[in-house]
Amino acid sequence: TSAIESAESLIRTIPDYPEPGVLFRDITPLLADAAALRAVIDSMIEPFAGQFDVVAGVEARGFLLAGAVATVANVGLVPIRKAGKLPRPAASVDYSLEYGTATIEAHDDIADGTRVLLVDDVLATGGTLEAAHTLVGLLGGVVVGTSVLMELVALGGRSLVPDVHAVFVA
Ligand code: 5GP
Repeated sequence: TSAIESAESLIRTIPDYPEPGVLFRDITPLLADAAALRAVIDSMIEPFAGQFDVVAGVEARGFLLAGAVATVANVGLVPIRKAGKLPRPAASVDYSLEYGTATIEAHDDIADGTRVLLVDDVLATGGTLEAAHTLVGLLGGVVVGTSVLMELVALGGRSLVPDVHAVFVA
């Protein structure tokens, strides 16, 4: 088995979390394994290697991957946070969730024309990464692609988010 196949086996599926009927993909066993973590970080970078100047990671689980992606790719990291967490947000974007709405914000640490790789753990409906894409654009950045650990294909999020690379699909 390759490192990447072993890594996939470390994603744990939890039924009925956070609510009945949802199959939650829990990536924490994968994060805890050195070889698996390194294999997935390398895979997240690979299609976009040399094409981005900074990584933008989405709170909260996206942060766990974005820091590693940025360090291995030798670029910096800009956090995209839930509303109210940053002291000087320069832009914010509202988006719809299944129930209600949410807001994400970022500081303007992205110079105009900077090439940005978006990173999150899971692509589900795509609402979060679509909003993150809009947010980076408001700050003057250019999104060159999006890397996620896992894409939940049945939810169709890919249609909202250009140039997605998913290490694993379910
Ligand atoms: P979306 O906006 O694409 O519907 O939802 C994506 C967000 O929800 C991501 O930030 C992701 O962290 C979270 N998410 C949705 N489903 C799952 C899941 O099964 N596992 C994990 N780890 N995160 C999920």
